[in-house]
Amino acid sequence: MTSGRVVPLTTSLDASEPYDVCIIGSGPAGTILGWSLAERGIRTLILESGSNLFYWLFDRRLRHLARYDFTGNTEYPLKNTRARMLGGTSNFWTGRCTRFHVSDFEPNPYTPDGNPWPFKYGDLEPYYERAENSLKVRGNDFSEYVPPRKNPLPPSPGQGISTLKSLLAGAEVAVDSSPTSAPEKGYRFFRIQDEILPGFLSSPHGTLVTGANVTRLIPDGEGRIAEAEVRTMDGIRKVARGKIFVVACGGIETPRLLLHSRSREFPNGIGNGNDMVGRGFNDHPAVNFFASIRHARNTLSPFGTIARSHQYYDSFRSEGLGSVLLVFRQAWFFPHHNLPLLGLSKISNLPKAVLNVMGRMTKPTLYIGGTIEMRVSDSNRVVLSDRNKDCFGNPLAHLVFDYADEDLRTLERSRELIRGIYRKLGATDVEEIEVSWSRHHQSTCRMGDDPGTSVVDRNLRVHESPNLYLCGSEVFVTGGAMQPCLTISALAHRLADHLASRLGEPRGAVRVPGPAQG
Ligand SMILES: Cc1cc2nc3c(=O)[nH]c(=O)nc-3n(C[C@H](O)[C@H](O)[C@H](O)COP(=O)(O)OP(=O)(O)OC[C@H]3O[C@@H](n4cnc5c(N)ncnc54)[C@H](O)[C@@H]3O)c2cc1C
Repeated sequence: MTSGRVVPLTTSLDASEPYDVCIIGSGPAGTILGWSLAERGIRTLILESGSNLFYWLFDRRLRHLARYDFTGNTEYPLKNTRARMLGGTSNFWTGRCTRFHVSDFEPNPYTPDGNPWPFKYGDLEPYYERAENSLKVRGNDFSEYVPPRKNPLPPSPGQGISTLKSLLAGAEVAVDSSPTSAPEKGYRFFRIQDEILPGFLSSPHGTLVTGANVTRLIPDGEGRIAEAEVRTMDGIRKVARGKIFVVACGGIETPRLLLHSRSREFPNGIGNGNDMVGRGFNDHPAVNFFASIRHARNTLSPFGTIARSHQYYDSFRSEGLGSVLLVFRQAWFFPHHNLPLLGLSKISNLPKAVLNVMGRMTKPTLYIGGTIEMRVSDSNRVVLSDRNKDCFGNPLAHLVFDYADEDLRTLERSRELIRGIYRKLGATDVEEIEVSWSRHHQSTCRMGDDPGTSVVDRNLRVHESPNLYLCGSEVFVTGGAMQPCLTISALAHRLADHLASRLGEPRGAVRVPGPAQG
């Protein structure tokens, strides 16, 4: 048995004794969990379907595996929402690392019937701290509207208090004192495979197999998962054995794998005895506005600045609606926001876009966006496609996803809120552009105490199987309006504690160097 490095499929599977834990997926969820387990001396295998960027870009079969069918009224993006490669979707992400609010864990208008969060914010708090250390998060949401953190890491140099703060004070908007909470090396540049995976691989207890597509989970006849069927693009078929299996394939592929793994024992798919697998899909749509603003001297930076406000997070909940997070960006030129959002994807829009950008360059522009929480509707769900198959002959996922009336009302209330802020600032030319999506795939295998309304229990174990766990944003009960990855990472640390105590932490665990403790 080869451990502690990337090994070929043929030498690591089939003949081996079971691993303590077999994790499927090497995104933030799978890698942080694997690293935390291997660090304690627990023999851990990570199976990852992709490998490096080259294969992701040029292997059409791999890209096809990340596609899904879609039905719905939301114009939801299908492409580039997930990466099948080492590190998973952290290869694409923007690096924002934010905690959920305390109120997200409390019963609120969007709590699904009979399915509250099975724990409180305070229960997750120590794991948030560990996740912030693992992801080396700097900056903070420092403001009176978010819970104070113990030992917050200071903002990086250059993450100073936004010049937007004084401008927005004129509209009675309080912004965080740090523009972003992100990995210290800069948001966008933190890749899980570069920052966390080396710790896993340097442990003698960690084994990684790439190019390993898990196509089916195979039960033993008594509800336990005995094996994972693994297939390669060049036709090799193997099985991986584990005492415990954790599926960490993201909010679309995790339910797809469970639904597809039908057997006599699980005729509707694993964990789907109550038809809950795949239900509740939600993301974070955002309304986007631009306007020209008058401003006092020294309130705007020529280089542009960004700020966020949690002030209105809970305001719409009293109306039975979702939460909202506001983001402000000021600049004379918006290379990031203007070009894609003004429709440069369509060449016919080019003249309009160029004129728009040129017009905006002559006067300061304030972008305001409002990212909202969606209602967790059980009719929004991942099912198996009856039209399209992957290269192994298995059905692709099919996402059914409509706005609920409450989502449309929350978007509308956010528009009113933003227009009101512009009015107070004396803004002119207020222009709304199309709704954008955050590509956060959430709540498709929710956690809860009642197997009738959830898929996994409070420890993330699938209710119907004693040795199968899930880890990722698919277990979120509600989605809030915050980015998911810090909460995913906190849940991975929490799950590592649970599995270690269940397996009995091995003696003589070798501690491997991990990410710096800030
Ligand atoms: C453009 C963009 C920007 C984003 N920005 C942010 C942000 O700023 N902050 C934030 O918190 N979140 C952000 N996200 C979301 C964030 O990237 C995801 O929430 C996070 O990566 C999910 O982690 P995960 O490990 O659960 O899943 P993933 O990262 O999707 O990883 C799943 C892994 O499982 C593998 N896999 C899937 N199926 C199989 C199989 N059958 N067999 C073997 N392996 C399999 C995949 O190849 C992949 O490596 C962003 C996402 C996108 C697309």
